This record gives sequence, structure tokens and C-alpha cells, in this order.
Amino acid sequence: MPKETIEKNRRKFIDIWFEALRIPSISAEAEHKPDMRRMAEWLVDLLDRELGFAAHLIETETNPLVFGQSPEVPGAPTVLIYGHYDVQPVDPLDLWRTPPFEPTVADGKVFGRGADDDKGQSLTHVFAVKTLLETSGTLPLNVKFIFEGEEEIGSAALSTFLESEENRRLLAADVILVSDTDKPAADEPGITYGLRGVVGYELTLTGPNRDLHSGLYGGSVRNPVAALCAMLADLIDSDGKIQIPGFYDDVVPLSERERAELARRPFDEAEALAAIGLDASFGEPEYTVIERRGARPSFDINGITGGYQGKGGKTIIPAKASAKFTFRLVPNQRPESLTRALDAFFRDRLPAGIKMDLNFQHGAGGMVIPLESPFLQAAARGLSSVYGKPPLFIRDGGSIPIITKVKDRLGADLILAGAGLEEDGIHSPNEYFALRDFFLGIESSAAILTELARVKQ
Ligand SMILES: [Zn+2]
Repeated sequence: MPKETIEKNRRKFIDIWFEALRIPSISAEAEHKPDMRRMAEWLVDLLDRELGFAAHLIETETNPLVFGQSPEVPGAPTVLIYGHYDVQPVDPLDLWRTPPFEPTVADGKVFGRGADDDKGQSLTHVFAVKTLLETSGTLPLNVKFIFEGEEEIGSAALSTFLESEENRRLLAADVILVSDTDKPAADEPGITYGLRGVVGYELTLTGPNRDLHSGLYGGSVRNPVAALCAMLADLIDSDGKIQIPGFYDDVVPLSERERAELARRPFDEAEALAAIGLDASFGEPEYTVIERRGARPSFDINGITGGYQGKGGKTIIPAKASAKFTFRLVPNQRPESLTRALDAFFRDRLPAGIKMDLNFQHGAGGMVIPLESPFLQAAARGLSSVYGKPPLFIRDGGSIPIITKVKDRLGADLILAGAGLEEDGIHSPNEYFALRDFFLGIESSAAILTELARVKQ
């Protein structure tokens, strides 16, 4: 049984995990460039040595990718497992109670940068494959691994890699398995089956060629800050409905089944509001807060700049005003069509005497896997067998552009099943991964792979 094999290898799995955590593969810091390569080479060696996979580095203009695949299992589905070997910087260092790159066990938790995100989580899948191999001598399905070293800095190399058809053939799979999200609670498994997309803009309005005296000119020229406020205010109504014509046209409606699944998630609205110091929520009244957060699009102004902001007052009409804002999108809304519609929306409202510049900053669409997907259902059965209860199906309000891109480019279903918890403090000082969650992650991955192998195509 896989569980016994995992138990037998407990020490070994921990030792290997710790080796990974000792390599300071911080992608954001140039002085760690050699560590990035060392980490990638370490992974190739691990896949070769422990799994007998034909693994190799894929050189890119920046950090190498690591690819490995199992010997062919004819007639069986193929799963692509994605992970990332880079980690976040460790500042502020003085807040760490133990050295970030010397894994330390305390309270049943392993502390260290990358313990969870994403070295620990990535390794749960490597060890699951090892467990299946050791338990039955062969794998029930075709397994491919792709590890990138730039997830924390924008995934440029993998993104470029996916543009070529030949490369997409190398990664081709029926289903993609990723652990780079959280599970809802220690004893509560979850599958994130939807992610929102995100698109960001900066709108700049320019009026007079310099700040003007508000006494000499007030009431006779347009104020760009006032124009900006009016144009932005038109974008959304008091119920949170976005007013751009056609904005909701491509939104895939929530099915009754989805609404029922999302409602299973325990959520105390008053408590959630209290935690952020609010006494009222906001948004489309016909949707629950959980639905508004994960399954409906949203608009937020991230910052506004314009005019005098120093001490005291200054009686001017500012020359310029600008705002940065983002939309969270849901399938099948497309960033490109939004940009066109938004530009037209603002031009319609642009007052005489003001010039506008709408600058597109970044964008990625959202994704959702149909709950009926046989692979999603298989993964749910795998998790149920380990936890003794079915997973919660989650639509996450955040965005993981590279994951959405991998899914879109390969045209495969995606299973996002995290083994860590929100409180693990990823990206923060004293990041950890509980040993129990780590080993449950290995067991879950083995169970998921076993169930995915049974999906008839
Ligand atoms: Zn991550």
C-alpha cells in the first residue's frame, strides 16, 4: 500500500526535502544566479536518480526549466505536473527566528524559505511518483514534470517556451496537476477549479500645460482631477455593476451545481468583515460574497494621483491627473476586448480641453474547469480516499497567469490541489510547512494519480 511505502521512506523524503531547502534559489536577486542553476541541476538529478525519469535542463534566456518524463505507459492518460523551484527573497531577515535556508523542525513544522512555496509542495508529487513506483513497480499513467525557476518574478522563460508548437508537444498532457495553492483547512481537502484573470491600466488626463492659479483660472478651464474622478465614477454603480457596454456579455453564468458547491464552503460573513475592520460588505446583491470574490468580475481603483499633496494648501488647478486600476475577469472575458471597450468608454466621456492616455499595463484571462470534468472528478475521489471526505470546490479570486497560460496553451484540464495552508506564511518570514500536511500531500498526490490513471478517454 502507498501509505506504508510513504511511512518507510519518511526519513529519506525529509532529507531530500531539506537538501532542496538549503539551496537559496531566490529568482529576484541577481547574486543568486548560480543557485538557480544549482537548484535546477539538483532537480534533474533527483528525477533521474529516484524515479528513473529521463530528465534534463531546458536552457532559456534566463533561468533553466527542468523537464522529466516517465517511460511510456501505452494507452494510459498523461499528467503534467507543474512546480517552481524559485523562492521569494527573505527580507526582512531579522524577523526570521531560524535561518531561512537552514530547514528547522519545531512544533511538527518545517521552517524555511520554500518549505511550502513551492519546493515542499512540488516535492510531494515527486515523492508520490516514487511511492507508486516502489509500491507496484510501475506507474499507472504517463507522468511528465515541468519545473520553472521564475514563478515569483513573472514566468518569462516558461511563457516564451509555450509559444512554440514543438515545445507544446513536449509538454502535451491530458491533465495538469499543480500544488501551488492552499487547502481550506488541515483536515479539509480542496480543489481550486477556477481562477480569475486580471488586467491592469493606468489612465492619465492632461489639462493645461502647467498648474494654474485657481483664482485666476477657476471656473473657466477643466480640472483634470475632477474629470478623472467623474470618468472613473461612471465605471461602476453603487451595486458593484460595471457600466462598460458589453462588459458582462462573455461571462459564463454560474450553474446551479456550482452555486451549490460554492455554498458548501464554511464562511462567516460577519467574522470575515470584523477581521478587516468593516461592518458592511459591497457588491452585486444577487451573488453571495464567496461568489463575488471568486466567480464574478470586479473593478478596483488601486491608486489616484494628481495635484498638490504636500503640507498645507495650494490653490491650483493641476495640469495632470492619473489613476491605476485593475479588473478581475472571469471566463470567458478577454483582456483585449476589454481594452477596446474601455478606451471607447473613456473617449465618450472625455471633456473638451482634456487629453487622455490609457495605458495597458498587464493582463491575463481567467480559467474555470467544468465540475463535470472526468479528471476533476477523479482527483476528487483521490482526495476523498485520503481525507475521508470530499474536497471543497473553490473558485479563487486571485490570478496565477502562468498556470492559466499553461492550461490554455496545452488545452488540458487543470487540477489545482494544494497541500499547504494559508497560515504557512508563504512569502513571509518564518515560512513553514507542517510535516503532517507534507505527508498528507504525498499520500493525496499518489491517490490522485491512481484515480487519474483510471479515467477512460
Ligand atoms: Zn508558489
